[in-house]
Amino acid sequence: MTNRRVPRASSAHSPAAVVLGGGLTGMLAAAVLADHAEVQIVERDLLATAPRSPLPAPRKGLPQAQHAHLLWSGGARTVESLLPGITQRWLAAGARRIPLPTGLVSLTAAGWLRRWPEMQYLIACSRDLLDWGVRRQVLAHPRIHVLSGTEPVGLSGSADHVTGVEVRDTATRDVRQLDADLMIDATGRGSAAAAWWAALGLPPMPEEHVYSGLAYATGIFRAPAGTAHWPIVNVQSDARLPVPGQTATLVPIEGARWLVTPSGTRGGQPTREASAFLPFARSVRHPVVADLIADAEPLTDVRLSRGGPRRFMVQ
Ligand SMILES: Cc1cc2nc3c(=O)[nH]c(=O)nc-3n(C[C@H](O)[C@H](O)[C@H](O)COP(=O)(O)OP(=O)(O)OC[C@H]3O[C@@H](n4cnc5c(N)ncnc54)[C@H](O)[C@@H]3O)c2cc1C
Repeated sequence: MTNRRVPRASSAHSPAAVVLGGGLTGMLAAAVLADHAEVQIVERDLLATAPRSPLPAPRKGLPQAQHAHLLWSGGARTVESLLPGITQRWLAAGARRIPLPTGLVSLTAAGWLRRWPEMQYLIACSRDLLDWGVRRQVLAHPRIHVLSGTEPVGLSGSADHVTGVEVRDTATRDVRQLDADLMIDATGRGSAAAAWWAALGLPPMPEEHVYSGLAYATGIFRAPAGTAHWPIVNVQSDARLPVPGQTATLVPIEGARWLVTPSGTRGGQPTREASAFLPFARSVRHPVVADLIADAEPLTDVRLSRGGPRRFMVQ
């Protein structure tokens, strides 16, 4: 293991910023910072083919990407304001722009949602496609650089003034120092910020842990012929009922596929058993999602994620 210092990318006119984590938050933070600073993104996963990667691919650091993700118009407009043309990039890659509430068949706790003409919209595609589009556009910026296959080890500086971060190459274990005028931690729920904070001698950050016991199981199916303009179909739970909350959601995604995610809270969680997938989808408040996929061709195994405790830093 070697330890070396990387000269700061900043000049007198251009401060240096380091963003830890190259997910959606990290990439969008970098896009904002690039107007003011030279930006270095530190990402543990190998994003070796970015920004020219031709197809969105799953990656280890984004396990939630295998489940249903919907980008609502408020979020889409915000991303578009930072990355002009991104919506068109997503659509050109196969995402669907779904008018709301016209394109949503949803059983809410208050009954079926009425489907009147478009007021808002959402972007329907895989989460990998959303991230891929953002990543390609952000990493094309001349002031944004990415160190992939790299993870932070700890902060440098003092309790009064953080001056950078020590990072380690995950393959070679080489450690280097990145100096920074500004650091942003966007490593998501596994963030080690509390430990780094403590290592600088700062008092512990107050945390709250919330554990909903929520689990998601997702399968991807070939969309049957004639469903090119299919709506999103969603059965929600009814929090007034004294039973575990269970849902089922069908999202049309790129590649003429349906991504189907049932979910359930403690005591009513789905499993990764393929044979249990359809019965679970049928057991929620309405069987519509199960009926739709009953004869559809599965393209993947069932992928299961159990939500661990969520940590919230509180002030
Ligand atoms: C099943 C499910 C469905 C969801 N649906 C929606 C939805 O429909 N709409 C919505 O808006 N949100 C949804 N969310 C929430 C959404 O996934 C998260 O809010 C979002 O991913 C947070 O983005 P992020 O960039 O902050 O973190 P992440 O997406 O977790 O990204 C963190 C990044 O940091 C990297 N990283 C982690 N640790 C390190 C480290 N030590 N060193 C370097 N890099 C590191 C990771 O590889 C990753 O690239 C859903 C979540 C789940 C679980």
